[in-house]
Amino acid sequence: MARGRIVIDVERCKGCELCRDACPKDVIKLADIFNSKGYRPIILLDPEHDCTGCALCAVVCPDGCITVYRDVPSRTREARGHAQAIA
Ligand code: SF4
Ligand code: SF4
Repeated sequence: MARGRIVIDVERCKGCELCRDACPKDVIKLADIFNSKGYRPIILLDPEHDCTGCALCAVVCPDGCITVYRDVPSRTREARGHAQAIA
């Protein structure tokens, strides 16, 4: 399973929670603090590293506040094995 994480632009977030509702892993929460515009932004709360980097949260955010990063497993070893097999 791929692993991911998100970075939130807290100052632009208006706490609408669309991203929270969209997240299949339930790792997005509302923060206990307010941003400078008076909104409670969202935070990633993911102690078990359940975020897969699926990007659903970023897709539904109407303000483009979320950047998604996903770890992509290296295929170097697989590719090398394949090259040896056909040599
Ligand atoms: S990338 Fe996917 S799993 Fe991760 S926080 Fe966003 S919706 Fe949830
Ligand atoms: S969808 Fe965007 S604006 Fe709404 S809570 Fe999530 S990050 Fe904030």
